[in-house]
Amino acid sequence: MCATCGLPFEFDPGAESLCGSCLSNPPAFDCARAAVRYDDASKGAILALKRADRLEFADLFARWLRHAAHPLLEHADLIVPVPLHRFRLWSRRYNQSAILAQRLHRMSGKRYDPFALVRARSTPSQGEMPSVKARRRNVRGAFRVPERRVKSISGASVLLVDDVLTTGATIEACARTLKRAGAKKVFVITIARVARPLPRDV
Ligand SMILES: [Zn+2]
Repeated sequence: MCATCGLPFEFDPGAESLCGSCLSNPPAFDCARAAVRYDDASKGAILALKRADRLEFADLFARWLRHAAHPLLEHADLIVPVPLHRFRLWSRRYNQSAILAQRLHRMSGKRYDPFALVRARSTPSQGEMPSVKARRRNVRGAFRVPERRVKSISGASVLLVDDVLTTGATIEACARTLKRAGAKKVFVITIARVARPLPRDV
């Protein structure tokens, strides 16, 4: 797989190989890993956690995440979930990424801060965006690190937790915001990722 974004390759080009996208336009995050491929087999369980309050999946997914996050978890100082805007949080009742991040914190003893990254504004769901470009535009400037959190982010290696890596637009926006706030490294762990290159502007 790509050493940076974790894209699975058709053949093994050797350790530390990068995909074309990461080579031509390095992402703001340092390393992203996922536990499983996002496909028909994993989709049902992930959507159930996301939409239908099936919290029994959270423990299983957290164990997968811990396994997939090795050795990133060991190098992280702080675990931060991708935030939901409070309106969506209210309608959905919980942020599945925060639940997974909290489980990882309990398993690892690493610091967990669900408020290190917040939504600066509400954005329509990424799933409603017609294109990759629209997804990127949708989340541009959508996140911020609150002033009182800058000190804890500055110089820290942050492990960002989300459920699915699709085009990487949300993760990229979050990572850029954390780096701007002074994060030394941003690692990303998701339950699943779409197994095609993350398209980016060159
Ligand atoms: Zn890559």
